[in-house]
Amino acid sequence: MPDITKAEKEARKALFAEGLKRCSKCLEALPIDRFQSNSRGWMGLRSRCRDCENAITLEYQRQHPEKVAERVRRWQIENPERSKAITQRYRDNRPLVDRLRRGRHRAQLAGVPYEHITTEELLADWQRRGISPDHDVYTGQPLQEGWHLDHAVPLSAPGTPGHIVSNLVPTNRSSNNTKGRKNWLDYIADREEQENAA
Ligand SMILES: [Zn+2]
Repeated sequence: MPDITKAEKEARKALFAEGLKRCSKCLEALPIDRFQSNSRGWMGLRSRCRDCENAITLEYQRQHPEKVAERVRRWQIENPERSKAITQRYRDNRPLVDRLRRGRHRAQLAGVPYEHITTEELLADWQRRGISPDHDVYTGQPLQEGWHLDHAVPLSAPGTPGHIVSNLVPTNRSSNNTKGRKNWLDYIADREEQENAA
């Protein structure tokens, strides 16, 4: 702990009374919540602000990528359950745009038609078709974490329309409701008939 003068101690206390603390790195007086806690630090806080701590961490990662990778690998091996949970949470939180990209990629690999579809286009199309972006289209249940952007007519089905906006629906991972799926496909067929007849 570096020695600080009595005057400095007084100034520190006065700042703290205003809800501020000076960062030892950038020297800015910042709100207390900009400092992480540290049980051994003055007033239970770290001496450097969060931004400075983050910058130091990033700089270390940039200079020692192999050390960081090694430490991550070791942690993953020693904490298999938590590591799996973190990966799963990352997958579950993947935004719609990522699901669209993956769907398109799968269509490309399968050699079936595909479109570049934006999130806005998809949501607008669902609104037009009366599809809730928050519910499983087959069961009507609320979407759960890890829900799928499903191709109503599978990419593997003969003559599939492929990854096009009208073939995309939200479903739950566990959704395995064949009847609902069949109804949905009938609905699409009826709708096409109606549109053709109109
Ligand atoms: Zn700082």
